[in-house]
Amino acid sequence: MKVVFKELRVSTSNLTELVDITRQVEEAVRESGVVNGLCLVYAPHATAAIVANEHEAGLMRDILNKLQQEYPRGAGWLHDRIDDNANAHLASAFIGSSRTFPVMDRRLVRGTWQNIFLVEMDGPRSRRIVVEVLGE
Ligand code: ZN
Repeated sequence: MKVVFKELRVSTSNLTELVDITRQVEEAVRESGVVNGLCLVYAPHATAAIVANEHEAGLMRDILNKLQQEYPRGAGWLHDRIDDNANAHLASAFIGSSRTFPVMDRRLVRGTWQNIFLVEMDGPRSRRIVVEVLGE
């Protein structure tokens, strides 16, 4: 079995935003040489997350608005006593910091309306994303 890692770097420019990383992830799958297997997309961060959904400006806004509704900034969270970013930690904890996709015939399998996004919840900052492709 082949296991190939690639690290992506993403600079976010806002407090919260969705950054489309589909092209970079697909490139990592192509470069890996894996024909059939799995692709893990993982953000090693406690205040960011990974999702797969449609790249449509309104929906991307809706996702961020929904997160703001569910985890409002400065809502008296206990962690805010030391760090002021509890809302970002909560969003990351409940969305999850990774997604896994099938790889078939050297291509990442995803729906037409499933682009891959880094969800920035505590930007702007530089984020790492680890893409691991494994298979035959
Ligand atoms: Zn914190």
